[in-house]
Formats: sequence, structure tokens, C-alpha cells
Amino acid sequence: MKLFELAKTFESIEATRSRRQMSTLLADLFRRADPREVKIIPYLIQGRLGPPYSAPDMGIDERRLTEGIARVTNRSLEETWSLYKTLGDFGLVTERLLPERNKTLSIEQTYEKLVKMAQTSGPGSTEVKNKLLVELLTQLNRLEARYLVRIVQGKLRLGVGDATILDALAESVGNLDLRPKIERAYTFSSDLGLVTYILRTKGIEGVEKIGPTPGRPILPALAERLPSSEEAIKKLGRLIAEPKYDGLRLQLHKDRDKVWLFTRRLENITQALPSLQQGGETQVLAMQAILDGEVIGIDPKSGKFLPFQQTARRRRKYQVEKIELLYPTRYYIFDLLLLNGQDLTSKPFRERLLLLKKVIKEASNGPIFITPRLETENPGELEKFFVQMLEQGLEGVLVKRPDAPYHAGARLFNWVKLKRGYGAKLADTFDVVVVGYFKGRGKRAVLGIGSLLCAVCDPKNDRFRTVSRVGSGLTNEEWGQFRERLDLISVLQRPRQVDSLIEPDVWVDPRYVIEVIASEITRSPRHTCGKVGKEKGYSLRFPRFSRIRTDRRAEDATTEKEVIDQYLNAHRR
Ligand code: ATP
Repeated sequence: MKLFELAKTFESIEATRSRRQMSTLLADLFRRADPREVKIIPYLIQGRLGPPYSAPDMGIDERRLTEGIARVTNRSLEETWSLYKTLGDFGLVTERLLPERNKTLSIEQTYEKLVKMAQTSGPGSTEVKNKLLVELLTQLNRLEARYLVRIVQGKLRLGVGDATILDALAESVGNLDLRPKIERAYTFSSDLGLVTYILRTKGIEGVEKIGPTPGRPILPALAERLPSSEEAIKKLGRLIAEPKYDGLRLQLHKDRDKVWLFTRRLENITQALPSLQQGGETQVLAMQAILDGEVIGIDPKSGKFLPFQQTARRRRKYQVEKIELLYPTRYYIFDLLLLNGQDLTSKPFRERLLLLKKVIKEASNGPIFITPRLETENPGELEKFFVQMLEQGLEGVLVKRPDAPYHAGARLFNWVKLKRGYGAKLADTFDVVVVGYFKGRGKRAVLGIGSLLCAVCDPKNDRFRTVSRVGSGLTNEEWGQFRERLDLISVLQRPRQVDSLIEPDVWVDPRYVIEVIASEITRSPRHTCGKVGKEKGYSLRFPRFSRIRTDRRAEDATTEKEVIDQYLNAHRR
């Protein structure tokens, strides 16, 4: 298939706002492509060259892109840059400046060239990458070049997320009822290219065989919230309670002498934690295992746990962030998902725990520990455990249903978090996505930023809906720094996945997740979170910025449903 066919489909997707139609266009594309192409297409749609945990970085920043485009189109750097400032998109700049010509490559040829470019590294690689980019662009027509440049930037901006691709896959085989089976395979592999390829070559029977596999991160199970120990016991009955560590969610995979470490954002960070990689080799007594847990920093002087912000630092290189751990860490394991080839995710939690105890060899100097726990059905006992955890400087507790399977990629009441402050009406935290900012008045006008327009996520529909305007919680210096970050991802129009009635001064790609503390949820006609027809939506009252959540993807933000549930809960109480 020619890249042109893919570009034409992208163009049609851009022309519609209907998710159904996007899915139909993609389904049609999947049907027309051959097996090798169907594997590549989901990656390219997401502006990557592979699944998130193993895609090579393109390594082309804005400056190099400007140079490349200028060279291919015989324009000056200044002219290219100034057109970019007007159009706000390098894809459109390239399309506008290139002459129309009768050239094209196949999807596979393009992909191979992009991989070659991304894999070029070492001294002098900058020049080579640029040369490869220029070569590639000279072989494409204008429409293809528009999308190729956006793929190189990792900014396709089609508004197509995982949910739409999964819908399209079910539609491509003509049976929407197969959607849950396809999604299940995705939660176990985190690789849409793989799922698409297996569906095409082995059918739904092949897809059903995709299970936990070392080397492929599983989408992590998430927790619901409840306000008190009593309500937790009322909802779950007899439960297992564990400390809630404020660290970094981490999956450790082992296959013989190979160990991988994956974050919740599905990045492979094995290189950043050599001590844990070693711990995987010596403390995990199994040929094959997949473990779920939390890495947390320890202050070497006091021996106390450190909050996540102090434990890790992220550095941005091109469009990719790398993580760096700054303190000695401990890895607290709370689940076992695969053992020596056996998928344990459908087994009850209690059974998985028994196996976990046999598999981990604890050592006083760590770094791997089994999470301590308490089994109880007594609210008083649970409350005492909760208070002990707070006294140790932890966030609260996680309570879990002993007979529940592991719910990969879902937020269910099998796991419930209890945190300080949930009982009171005041002060709850939400992870919201920044979708734009306002320039501010008075003193703030000098900084060029006064408040943030923030949204919650509707993952089933690949949408972000606004829930709050956040204007406090940062110092002037911090506002300035955050603005600089936002300006790098600013866009001229409302991003396609954002539903908003409010128009901020500057729109940004929905990428940064921030934690805000709010006093209450109220109904509001201005926000689109939970808004149906003429009814009011929901908004966060008196929000304060508390921190940037670099460990979250935008799709992992607080969901619209969580906000509505919490509002209903509070009002029931
Ligand atoms: P919060 O913002 O309240 O920390 P969250 O957004 O990090 O919540 P949730 O799924 O709501 O994520 O809460 C579960 C998270 O808590 C997990 O992702 C994990 O990182 C962390 N965690 C800490 N201790 C545990 C534990 N014992 N069991 C499960 N998750 C734990």
C-alpha cells in the first residue's frame, strides 16, 4: 500500500469529528492493508515506530526539522521558521512549501527509512539523521509529507487514541462484539501493532491466546476511592489492606537471565535502575515472572520514605522523557501476574499472594520486598492500620478483595484507596490534564500566564472534557517555568480530543497531567465534564496546583466518571 493511501485516510479523519466515522475509516484501511502493513499502521497513527516501551526515538527536534524542511524546499531558515510561527504546524509548512510532484513510497519503505533514521546514533548522527530526513522528504508528495513530518514530531493530532483503534479493529472483522476480546489482548501486551497483526493473521482465536508475556508490559490495575474504613468494609467485606506508597508504579519482568522494568506509562526504564535489575536476577526465584509493585526512595540519613517528586527526576530529550532515580530505592511488590509460563491474572488475589511469598527471597539490604499486609473485616482494626501508615509518612492504604482476579487496565472496586482527607468534605486530589492557559491580568500579565484550563479524561471515547480553571498554588517563578513548557506544545486551534465551551488564550496539546487539590465538586454550566445536552456539567471548586505528575500519561488522568461518582457519593452522604 502506498503511503498516499494512509495519508488520504488521515486527511479524511481530520475532516470529521465523529468518532464512529473515524473508526469506520480506520477499519476500512485495516481491511485494505496487507499483514505487514497492518502491524505498522497503529504505530504510525500514534506518531511512533513501535509500542511505547520499545519504539526508537526519532531524535529530531524543532531546529533540525526547520533545517530539513528548508533544505528540501529550497527556502531560507528564516522563511521556514516564520511560516511555522504563522501556521503552528510543521506538517502544514512542508505541504505548503513543497511543489506538487508525482512521487510516493510504500508504507513499508517509509517505515524502514524512519526506523533507520531513528536508530542512527553516536558521534555525527545529527548530520546523518538530517540527511536521511531530507532524502525521505524528497521522495514524497505534498500530502504524504504533511503527515510524515507530524509522525517525525510524534504529533499526528488526529484525535485517534487507543479506544478508537480498538473499535476500528472490531469493525474491520465485521463483529463489534469482539471488541472486549481484542481489548483484553491489548491490556496484556500494550502493543496495538501486535494485536492488529495477530487478528489479521490468526483471527480472533489467535488474539484470545495473547496473555501476559515477559518483556511486554501489562496495563496496570487501578484503584477506586472510598471515604472511610467503615465504607471500605461495607463495600468489600473481608479485605486485605496494604500501605499505599507514594512512589513510582513499576512492573518487573523476568525471563531466565533477562530482566525488564516498566513504568505505568509503559516506558522501559531498566537502564535507570541497575540495582533493581540485579535484584530481579537474585531475589526472584523463578525462571519467568511478572511482578507488580511500587518503587520508593529512601532518605539514606533518616531511613524514611521519600515522596515521589524527590525520588525521581525526568529529563526531556527531543519528544521523549528519560527518568533518573536520585536516591537509593526499595521495590515493594504487591502482586504476581505470571509465574513460569502460567498466567495468574484470573486466579484470586489470595492465591497469587501465596505464590508470591514462595517466589521472593527477601534480603535485609533489599532492594526487593514483599508489601506488608493485614487481612481484616473489622473497621476499627483497619482504621488503626490506616493511622499507623499515616504516622509512617505514607499516603494511606490500599484495600483489596481477596478473591478478585487482577483487573489489568481497569479501575474497579477490587482495589480501593483510602487516603488522608477523604473523610472530610475538603481537600481531595485530582489528576487533571492541562489543555490551555489564560494570559492573566494585573501582576500575572507580566508573566504571560494567569491560569490553566484543565480537563478530565473520558478514555472510552478518547476525549478530554474541561473541569476547572486553576489559578493558584504556584510561585511566580514556577508559573514562568510552566509557561515555557506549555509554549513548546502550544497549538493554534482546540486539539481535536478536547471538548470545551471555554476558549483559553493559548491551547496546548493535552500532555501534562497536574495534581490539583480542590475543596469540592459542584455543577457548572461552563464546563463539559459530565455535561449532557442543556444540563450543567461538573467542576472542581477552589482548585490549587499541587504538582506536575510526570508519571502519568494524559489518558491516565482522573476520569469524568470518577468526578461524577464522587459528586454523587458526597451528596448521598
Ligand atoms: P493517587 O493519585 O491517589 O496516588 P493514583 O492516581 O496514583 O492515585 P490509583 O490507581 O488511583 O493511582 O491508586 C493506585 C496507585 O497507588 C497505584 O498506581 C500505585 O502506583 C500506588 N500504590 C502504592 N501502594 C500500592 C499498593 N500497595 N497496591 C497498589 N497500588 C499501590
